[in-house]
Parts: sequence; structure tokens; C-alpha cells
Amino acid sequence: MMNKFCSICGAKTDTSIPEGDNRKRAVCRNCGTIHYENPKLVVGCIVEQDEHVLLCRRSINPQIGKWTLPAGYLENNESAAEGAIRETFEESGAQVELCGPYRLFDLPTISQFYLLFRAKLVSCPFLPTSESSEVQLFRWADIPWEQIAFKVITTTLRHHMNDAANGRNFEFTNHIIHL
Ligand SMILES: [Zn+2]
Repeated sequence: MMNKFCSICGAKTDTSIPEGDNRKRAVCRNCGTIHYENPKLVVGCIVEQDEHVLLCRRSINPQIGKWTLPAGYLENNESAAEGAIRETFEESGAQVELCGPYRLFDLPTISQFYLLFRAKLVSCPFLPTSESSEVQLFRWADIPWEQIAFKVITTTLRHHMNDAANGRNFEFTNHIIHL
């Protein structure tokens, strides 16, 4: 979805390919500013605690009522690690320490990518927040697989469960998902 109005002067934009470029951009009719739009990065955590993982039940759309790992858009002037810790706190109230990056998902069809870290709790309690109606530690056997909000989250949980079951090292890997 291209910008309809210029963020600099407020005039309407046209969609065109600027000289020397090869993609359509929103270009201001008045001041000529070219509005580049680039993929968004979602950062989050798989929080581990004694064979359990922390899930949040979404109280906002999309996918309201479903469970997810705490994750959200990275802010400007923030490192990916800082963003993952902040999002985890905002969605679950949990304070975490990162163990390392775990999964990177390219989602080119929706111009997003997800970077999920492994993390451990440094302080309980976690609690419902404005974004989560429930926050809970789940054992692998109790994960509500049919009620997980997003494919990347289901995939991350399955990979993590398999790594844990097979005594593997939780190696960082990258995957492409076409939605
Ligand atoms: Zn303008």
C-alpha cells in the first residue's frame, strides 16, 4: 500500500518509476520526494523455562484469541535484541535475557521478516497485558497447536520442540515462507 500523501509537504503522490530506478514508488506531485517502502522486521522471543515455553493469548487483532510467542515490529533506533526484549515485556510482562538468535523467516509475499530469539526468564511474574488476555507457560504436550496465531510461530515452536526432544543445539537457521 503506497503512501497517498507526501509525508514532507502533504500534497498528493503519484505512483511512478523514478529516473534511474526500476520499481514503482509513491512520488510527491509537489516537492518530488520519493517515498521508499521497505520490508518490516518483526522481532520476538521463545522464552524457555524448565521444559516449558511462554505463550501469550492475543487480545488484539489480527488473530484475536489465539496464542502466540511475544513478538512485534522493531522500532527505529532500536537493536533487534532490544526490540525482542521490549516486545516480550510489553506483551507478557516478563523480563528476559536473550540466549541467542534462533529462527529467521523471510516472508517475501508480505514483505516482512521475523527474527526470533531464544530467551530465559529473569523475573517472574508474567501477567496479562493490554495486548494479551492471558500469559502462560506451556509444556510441549499442552501446546494448543490448533490455536496458534501465525504460521511462523507454529513453525518456530515445532522446530524448538524437535530440537529439545533430540538433544540438539538450537542452531540458528533461516527459512523462506510464502504465505
Ligand atoms: Zn511533497
